[in-house]
Amino acid sequence: MEHIVKLAYLLASVLFIVGLKNLSHPKTAVRGNMFGALGMFIAIVVTLFDKNIVSYEIIIGGIILGSIIGMILAAKIQMTGMPQLVAILNGFGGIASVLVAGAALLEVMAKPPGESSALLIPQFTISTNLSAIIGAVTFSGSLIAFGKLQGLVTEKAVRYPLDQVVKAIVFLGAFAVAGYFVYDPTDANLYWILCGVGLLLGILLVVPIGGADMPVVISLLNSYSGIAASMNGFVLDNNVLIIAGSLVGASGIILTQIMCKAMNRSLTNVLFGGFGAVAESASDDGDFYTGKVKSTSPEEVAMVLDIARKVVIVPGYGMAVSQAQHTVRDLYNILTARGIDVEFAIHPVAGRMPGHMNVLLAEADIPYDKMKEMDEINPTFGDVDVVIVNGANDVVNPSSKTDPKSPIAGMPILDVDKAKTVIVMKRSLSPGFAGIPNPLFILENSLMLFGDGKKMTQEIVNALKE
Ligand code: NDP
Repeated sequence: MEHIVKLAYLLASVLFIVGLKNLSHPKTAVRGNMFGALGMFIAIVVTLFDKNIVSYEIIIGGIILGSIIGMILAAKIQMTGMPQLVAILNGFGGIASVLVAGAALLEVMAKPPGESSALLIPQFTISTNLSAIIGAVTFSGSLIAFGKLQGLVTEKAVRYPLDQVVKAIVFLGAFAVAGYFVYDPTDANLYWILCGVGLLLGILLVVPIGGADMPVVISLLNSYSGIAASMNGFVLDNNVLIIAGSLVGASGIILTQIMCKAMNRSLTNVLFGGFGAVAESASDDGDFYTGKVKSTSPEEVAMVLDIARKVVIVPGYGMAVSQAQHTVRDLYNILTARGIDVEFAIHPVAGRMPGHMNVLLAEADIPYDKMKEMDEINPTFGDVDVVIVNGANDVVNPSSKTDPKSPIAGMPILDVDKAKTVIVMKRSLSPGFAGIPNPLFILENSLMLFGDGKKMTQEIVNALKE
């Protein structure tokens, strides 16, 4: 039986790795997802047969209750609410690690003294403590990230005097408690104190991060949830959990690095927080745009497109809000049918979750070879006749290059301003997630098309047909 279990865990681990490999390209991503799900199914079934830890009734009850809550959430959530959902599910992963490690600890401590002290070896206590700290940080940090994305907590970076010192003290405090617990693992209360410190640390780590830097913290929390699960694997002596957790942790770190590169931040910045604060110099919207904005109509845009040879569409969060992807596909079809070269420029942090734009465009069956990454498309904007910015703002804000005080200073953007004409489609002059004005809107070659992304795209399509 033991060999069969180990073999099944090995098979599940291989499926996770093959799944991840397939997930790295949109064409194979669905297959990758299936491999991952199959691996998880095998791991769960084998674990249930192998270790009868609690009664099957409780497990089945938990699965039914969890599935009902999950199904209601999935059915109710708007596509635009997905990032918040991902953030909160991430947090549940963290708290699950805290509870599993806590339960394992209580179980060991309930044994007779001799047996219990034989089990409280450093591998067990260290991994239990790490599950507590990392899991608790993930949970409270994810709740704050959820609040920021949902607009329940200010999405701006919140700074206060000596915040770095406070964070450092709490961080050292957590390690002091953990160290003492490893040295003398007799008092289970220390575990819960450690969880409390971890929860506080998660809040302190995420609150000072905000604005355009949120994608970095979301991918980092994703990674933390994996590391916490992997620590759980050591607590329970379960290889498949160690491997699956490490894969999530490692891929989360890789994603964090991709996001750091996209934001031009170092990982040290991320770990010690404190970026994304809105600069005091950020101008008031009203004064910034007064008398300088040129607006246009869908009919005018259709005329500009009529004589274009090369068009680039830049999707942003607004496209997700208006669910314009299928209408954008209609626009793509009509333009390409006229021999116009149409490409899509994808900024790594566009939208509200990593890969958000790729998912929406793939849903509308936009060919993958037409979706261009920022580094690939940026050098070509000089040859582009028309750029249509559909609900994007921060990712095309040139102040990141011109204003060193800007909260997005240094963040690479899509250089749409280099195109001959830029059409910016959005409902008003409101700022994007970073909360700052966008000088793109007042450039000589920019035209604002005010309105809902889907409605305006449809009206352009109608005008082109006419
Ligand atoms: P932004 O948030 O900068 O801007 C989106 C724009 O969409 C707004 O200015 C809004 O203007 C417009 N909009 C909203 N609703 C509609 C609608 N129905 N139709 C048309 N336009 C609409 O989006 P970007 O994609 O440019 O940038 C993403 C930002 O989010 C970055 O700052 C990024 O760092 C941050 N972020 C990204 C995450 C990720 O993982 N990708 C995670 C968390 C944050 P108006 O109201 O005038 O219509």
